[in-house]
Amino acid sequence: MKDNLLLKVSNLDAGYGAIQVLWDINLEVKQKEVVCVIGANGAGKSTLLKNIVGIIPSFKGEIFYSDNNITKMASPERIKMGLGFAPEGRHLFFGLTVEDNLLMGAFQRKYDKSLKEDLDFVYTLFKPLKGYRKKLAGNLSGGEQQMCAIGRALMSRPKLLIIDELSLGLAPVVVDDLIDILAKLRKERGISILLVEQDVKVALDIADRGYVLEAGAVSIHDTTDKLAKNEHIKTAYLGIA
Ligand code: ATP
Repeated sequence: MKDNLLLKVSNLDAGYGAIQVLWDINLEVKQKEVVCVIGANGAGKSTLLKNIVGIIPSFKGEIFYSDNNITKMASPERIKMGLGFAPEGRHLFFGLTVEDNLLMGAFQRKYDKSLKEDLDFVYTLFKPLKGYRKKLAGNLSGGEQQMCAIGRALMSRPKLLIIDELSLGLAPVVVDDLIDILAKLRKERGISILLVEQDVKVALDIADRGYVLEAGAVSIHDTTDKLAKNEHIKTAYLGIA
């Protein structure tokens, strides 16, 4: 796609049955870019991510990923093409081990040596998971569960990693570790990241650009440097009077 675009969402309307949640959304993610979506509870952030990943269909508009129109594609096809998703609440299989959860992320791949390499890569990235590979995911701490959810998403070898609520419920020190890991993924693997983050300060620190969702529509989008100086963002989202 033009201008190094990896993802382009055009004029997207979406919702649940008769309820429209998203209104005329336009959003782009470039290669190796980190983009955040911020907004109040119920603004439609998760709905947008679920739409991009194909978990819920759109009413109108189009989604392009790496030169392909993926609007009508089912979720597994989108994952196969290079989208990785770590959902809100992590949605791990609590009755399975950490390693089996990670392998679930590779369910569309052949069981070959590249799978072992990717498991090793995830264990290098998230060191605590290696010691817990045989532990049930349901017995992990919140931070470890988030590591496992992101690790599972990485097992499909995504070019675009989509994370819904990176820091929710996690201690600041764990969030700092996750932020370092995301920076490493971008730098060393060239992975782009689209994330929804309720902690606006964290979101603006991590991302290059951001979109503000208000009542299901994009109200502002800009570089995070400019968003951090925006008076509306400062008062409404950063608590700075
Ligand atoms: P939060 O920060 O609280 O997670 P959000 O910005 O991610 O909020 P969404 O979860 O996308 O917001 O919800 C947007 C709207 O869609 C809300 O009004 C919500 O009640 C509604 N909604 C979400 N999921 C469903 C569903 N499965 N069926 C019907 N309405 C839904």
